[in-house]
Amino acid sequence: MNIYERRGIKTLINAKGPATRLSGGVMHPAVLAAMSEAAGHCVDMAELEAHASQVIADVTGAEAGYVASGAAACLLLATAACVTGLDPGRMARLPDTSGMKNEVIVVRSQRNFYDHAVRTAGVRFVEVGLPDRYAGAGIRDAEPWEIADAISERTAAVFYVADRAARPSLVDVVKVAHAAGVPVIVDAAAQLPPQGNLRRFITEGADLVAFSGGKAINGPQATGFLCGRRDLVMAAALQHLDLDILWEQWAPPPILIDKGRLKGTPQHGIGRPCKVGKEQIIGLLAALELFVAEGDEARHGRWCKLAQDLADGLQSLPGCRVELTGFDNVEEVPIVTLALPRDGTLSAQDLVIALQSGTPSIQVDPTFCDQGIVAFNPMCLQVGESAIVVDAVQRLNMRS
Ligand SMILES: *Cc1c(COP(=O)(O)O)cnc(C)c1O
Repeated sequence: MNIYERRGIKTLINAKGPATRLSGGVMHPAVLAAMSEAAGHCVDMAELEAHASQVIADVTGAEAGYVASGAAACLLLATAACVTGLDPGRMARLPDTSGMKNEVIVVRSQRNFYDHAVRTAGVRFVEVGLPDRYAGAGIRDAEPWEIADAISERTAAVFYVADRAARPSLVDVVKVAHAAGVPVIVDAAAQLPPQGNLRRFITEGADLVAFSGGKAINGPQATGFLCGRRDLVMAAALQHLDLDILWEQWAPPPILIDKGRLKGTPQHGIGRPCKVGKEQIIGLLAALELFVAEGDEARHGRWCKLAQDLADGLQSLPGCRVELTGFDNVEEVPIVTLALPRDGTLSAQDLVIALQSGTPSIQVDPTFCDQGIVAFNPMCLQVGESAIVVDAVQRLNMRS
């Protein structure tokens, strides 16, 4: 029995991908070993974050980096940094932003439930654009001039949710924001692979970019990191680190925190609930280094093998259609989709729920259920699990 079973908790097979609800993936033994070793010593957290900053800077090409408890936590820290700058008084007053720049501009089509993290800093969203391309009524989304129009003396930042489908381009958004001296925060939580995206948004001019540590990087589930401008990363760090220390005694690492730019020690900031442990930081760094060393091609090959085993097994199901996407492009995640017969008794949603309730419980992607399609993502599958998934689908399909 494993540690969960001993506590009466079922483990599951994850063919859905690294969802927070499903606890993310299974970490590499080298990452587990690093975390275990990290847990055996005490360190100064600011020093550890300063080291992380350099590792993240190397990997992303940004000036600095910072680790917190998830990409969402990083979005809160990023927003707070843009609102307060390096003013300890403002940091102490958040989320009360009266008298501060407290509006964040966002393209309406990019709104999503994770942006709660941005609003948590005490800012108000100013939405722009009418994305009629999604309604089938038109072809447009927001345009750069609309963002420029919305910028005022109250604008703390422009928030951009990176995605292949995101409009306008980040380059165009950065152009209008920077013309008005406004920083751009990018949510790139799930934008890996391709690995090139670690540098891309910084190269395109983003001031702060947030990535998840628990998705493709396969680090600790409760980690994420920021990369970007040194002054903004410093402002983020100051609102996250525990600074329960006398000013005279405080000697933060200058590459992360330039004490000379501060009029006093900030108190515990709005980011304090985004606390991250030394084990998580070391685990994230170890996973990030492995992610970079493996490269898109090898990683894609590993995922394709798992997904192909699934596809081969599902091909034999009568009346079903199996399709593969992302197999011929190393920058994508290979996905297997199973279209159930329209006239069958088993609907896609039935299959998703039946797989979930089986033993072992199998989680798949229900995004396309309304089209009669079940999707399988190999990112969190372990070797040998594809056969178990195929077997379960076959049994359920025969029974129906
Ligand atoms: C997953 C995700 C997040 C949150 O990332 P965590 O690391 O779980 O905090 C934020 N934004 C988007 C777009 C995401 O997909």
